[in-house]
Amino acid sequence: MPSFPRIRFGPAGIPIQCEGSSTLEGVRCCKELGLSAMEMEFVQGVRMKEDAAIEVGKAAKEFDISISSHAPYFVNLCTDDSLKLANSKKHIIGSARITALAGGNITVFHPGFYQKLTPKEAFDAAKTNLKAIESELKTRNIKIRLGAETVGKKSAFGGLDENIKLAQELDMVVPVPDFAHLHARGDQRLKTEDDYRAVFDKLERELSGIDYIRHFHCHFSEINYSDKGELNHFALGTNNEPPIKPFMKLLAENGYSGTVICETPRLDYDSLMMKDEYERALSKKK
Ligand SMILES: [Zn+2]
Repeated sequence: MPSFPRIRFGPAGIPIQCEGSSTLEGVRCCKELGLSAMEMEFVQGVRMKEDAAIEVGKAAKEFDISISSHAPYFVNLCTDDSLKLANSKKHIIGSARITALAGGNITVFHPGFYQKLTPKEAFDAAKTNLKAIESELKTRNIKIRLGAETVGKKSAFGGLDENIKLAQELDMVVPVPDFAHLHARGDQRLKTEDDYRAVFDKLERELSGIDYIRHFHCHFSEINYSDKGELNHFALGTNNEPPIKPFMKLLAENGYSGTVICETPRLDYDSLMMKDEYERALSKKK
């Protein structure tokens, strides 16, 4: 066993159990709780200042907490509204810049919406705009991965296959599977270990060039959904959809390594439950 777990677990935001409300305190709190990742939630806008980000980076390094971020929700890279598009680019670049300063390795975003576009048109728009974002990040020497999250609504652009294709055609983009969204959108209903395996097999096959399954980034929660897709995220043990146990078993039994960010309403509590479940599966494997 390496000195740190092969899979890192952490909350989407500052732990609920944390007494302080700053990101820096959140990082310290993750360490105290025994978690090893934290996603900074820039979902309403990037408000963190440069010096604060640098302090977060120092603490994250000292405590071995892997940092990531979630870009604002209003991002839509498929829109034909030039103002919205300019803002979307600005939000992703701003998130990436601050995340890189904080020593983070990925900034996650929701790619966009089809609206009147065909899936092909939506893909082309997202690709063109991501290319422009990449080029700006390269010019500014910002080293980061851009995580295209698998979306939960059928009206949204960014299914698993679409995001994998973006990753194949762009340098900095990787897919970020959100297992609750995959399940809710119906891209991949997840019930058994084999269902999860199908996702990882696809990532392994399609992204072998970057060995993505050895440093993947994903989101997990249980979810409430309708025939249009996601409604809201649930805490673990609410409806068991998708189920955590077979997922942790798969991760324990294979050579995958990466980060699982907990997006349930019980953030750190459920992160710790995931970690326990994973460690239990690891010990059974021996
Ligand atoms: Zn998200």
